[in-house]
Amino acid sequence: MDLDSQGKQLLELLISKLDTVVPGKPETYIGYKECHDLLRLPRLREKWGESLKSQGLSSLADWTESNDKPGITGIIINLSTKKPGKEYFNLFGKDDDDYKWWAAQIAESKKHDWSSYISKIFDLIPSDLKVPDREDITTSRVIRDTFLSSKIKALHSYKCQLCGIALNMPEGKKYAEAHHIQPLGKPHNGPDIIENMICLCPNHHAMLDYGAIKIDPKQIRLADDHEISHCFISYHNDFIYRP
Ligand SMILES: [Zn+2]
Repeated sequence: MDLDSQGKQLLELLISKLDTVVPGKPETYIGYKECHDLLRLPRLREKWGESLKSQGLSSLADWTESNDKPGITGIIINLSTKKPGKEYFNLFGKDDDDYKWWAAQIAESKKHDWSSYISKIFDLIPSDLKVPDREDITTSRVIRDTFLSSKIKALHSYKCQLCGIALNMPEGKKYAEAHHIQPLGKPHNGPDIIENMICLCPNHHAMLDYGAIKIDPKQIRLADDHEISHCFISYHNDFIYRP
């Protein structure tokens, strides 16, 4: 079976979480509501778990089971019971107190090579886009296909942090661009860290690249697990923005 677009979106979020997840330590896992917030999903049911099931969780869990993938959905838990739903254990034919098996699934998820499920399509470099000569222009646009850029886009569900727009692409995919606020490379030498990155639509990406607009910290749409450091915003406003 194929994974539907909501299942894919959830999978990408979980993959981005794997770095900080410690097998057997549910306090490092993620709650149903947090998944809604990070993916900006509507609450469709009274219970957050039920709501998430109908928006990717069931399809992702079924997909992992039927494709012999580790049970990565076990990192989504009910924060009060600190456990995934019974269905998680039942789907794999386990008892719902088989914590050893559960921890092993998370350990395997961390080891598993998920790279082919991180949406490379979003990071394709448009064929007509040339990286400008650094001599010619002070803000050079460095296009990179890094894990961080995929992660930041997933955290924001491909919505621009300035205007909230996500571009709809074929097959239910979304498109966004990750921007380094203090640019990488000379002469700016910004760091390649998530605190220096912002998820943007192509219009806002160009406007920031060319210093057409200031960044107003109050205008930035936030997501959990992604804090932008103010020093980089100040750098943009002081050195990139040209009134
Ligand atoms: Zn925008």
